[in-house]
Amino acid sequence: MTPTTPVASHFIRDIILEDLKTNKFGGRVCTRFPPEPNGYLHVGHAKAIHLDFGLAKEFGGQCNLRFDDTNPSKEETEYVEGIIEDVKWLGGDFGDRIFYASEYFGQLYEWAVQLIRAGKAYVCDLTADQVREQRGTLTEPGQESPYRNRSVEENLNLLERMRAGEFPDGARTVRAKIDMASKNLNLRDPVMYRILHAEHHRTGTQWCIYPMYDYAHGQSDSIEGITHSICTLEFEDHRPLYDWFVEQLGIHHPQQIEFDRLNLTYTMMSKRKLLKLVQEKYVNGWDDPRMPTISGMRRRGYTPEALRNFCSRLGVSKTNGITELSLLEYCVREDLNRRALRVMGVLHPLRVVIDNYSDGLVEEMEAINNPEDPGDGARNVPFSKVLYIEQDDFREDPPKQFYRLSPGREVRLRYGYFITCTSVTKNPKGEVVEVHCTYDPETRGGNAPDGRKVKSTIHWVSADHALNAEVRLYETLFTKEDPDDVEEGHEFTDNLNPRSAEILTGAKLEPSVANSPLGTRYQFERLGYFCVDRESTPLNLVFNRTVTLKDAWAKIENKTPGKKPK
Ligand code: ATP
Ligand code: MG
Repeated sequence: MTPTTPVASHFIRDIILEDLKTNKFGGRVCTRFPPEPNGYLHVGHAKAIHLDFGLAKEFGGQCNLRFDDTNPSKEETEYVEGIIEDVKWLGGDFGDRIFYASEYFGQLYEWAVQLIRAGKAYVCDLTADQVREQRGTLTEPGQESPYRNRSVEENLNLLERMRAGEFPDGARTVRAKIDMASKNLNLRDPVMYRILHAEHHRTGTQWCIYPMYDYAHGQSDSIEGITHSICTLEFEDHRPLYDWFVEQLGIHHPQQIEFDRLNLTYTMMSKRKLLKLVQEKYVNGWDDPRMPTISGMRRRGYTPEALRNFCSRLGVSKTNGITELSLLEYCVREDLNRRALRVMGVLHPLRVVIDNYSDGLVEEMEAINNPEDPGDGARNVPFSKVLYIEQDDFREDPPKQFYRLSPGREVRLRYGYFITCTSVTKNPKGEVVEVHCTYDPETRGGNAPDGRKVKSTIHWVSADHALNAEVRLYETLFTKEDPDDVEEGHEFTDNLNPRSAEILTGAKLEPSVANSPLGTRYQFERLGYFCVDRESTPLNLVFNRTVTLKDAWAKIENKTPGKKPK
């Protein structure tokens, strides 16, 4: 962790400290990160990963990566591979401890038999709809199933036949026999198994009955010897059931602890909805740089350090809230400011001809690579008679307060010379296509020996030496802070930002960025942080803008870490 990272303790750490003190788990700490392989990981998962792996590491324990693959129809191997890559990239150290809930199907089945034998579970012939109807409400108790009191023999026989594939999907379930009048709806004889004749990405057609999440999760934790099973708040009401199963089975009992989910403004985190964005081509795949996925953020140029720093600033609590996206961007900037090398690039080029500069002369100007780190040294940038500057840095008819280049005005070219605009060339439409200037040879490096000042410094590239590049600029994917805020009859996709991506194909970059490996990150001076995209080739450079140089953060600086009450 970086020294600027505020390390505040939180209630989960305090629970672990207490458990270590009382020797509750024999001094062990073992956590797990349990994604369902039904999509790619998103920034919310980064928070869970940071906690699960971070706490294990802090206390000298281990964190397992476990795929919660109990739902055969939605899971895919592509997601498994993507998740492994993303967890590693974030720094999660699971060694060779990659597990799958599906590896435990055999054990879970034996435990179902054990519960039936103990009179704690039964086969129920009600349909899913009937089970739901008879479940009762928060104020009314549920009704007991007519199949609740089947004999152990009949239950075992039916379970065996369910497993053998004798019954169609949905015909029967296995239910835990707990309490149809419980205040907690999760304890009203919850379903443990359902029939599903579906192929599983790992077990193939070996099974046609699949365990429900609640029946699989705690037991999987128990099998792996997990001590602290950290999950999000929506599982709080499931904890009594988690406890019930491991207690009835008399097996190792991990402690489930719930924390608040990460929600971010302008960001959608439901995997189902992210999948829709991908499938219906609102975005270009899971790693589209506008996606809140780890793979999208990696492609956009975010660093694992920035994401980890963001996660440690979030804190951990028992109430859900919304975090400002600008806090995440602040963390990305803070990290890139420290390590990205500075270069010059022009996104919207305007030709500048320096009339009194010798034809064919090229001077190498020394430019500092990173003012934050003198160890990064300096490089040479070629200067010549024809340059490009940013269209925005010139106004023929400047408004008040515009101090950049305009007719008669002198400005500094960064690491170059002072230049003064003398005239412009226009196209038939009357647009300025070329700016003519003179330079002062005495101002090499950017200072006048007579001490005269200029009011602005602009960036440039030499036209003959510039590399052409495609540069992709991004805005938030949604126009609303809460993308789910829609009126009747509308969908979250109606809140997509039509201007979320802008592709500039005519950018000009200084030659030093040639041959930058995939993922290299730069600060383009005055424009933001950019990284080499995976579609970039030596002949067709492609850069993504990771983040602008500054923005709305100033607005929230005075608030405590970017979280708003819901
Ligand atoms: P979704 O409902 O979008 O499918 P999920 O919670 O079901 O998401 P899982 O793959 O089951 O996704 O999540 C794996 C782990 O990551 C779980 O422990 C879950 O609690 C945690 N997690 C998921 N989303 C968030 C989030 N937004 N903030 C913090 N932790 C999260
Ligand atoms: Mg889930």
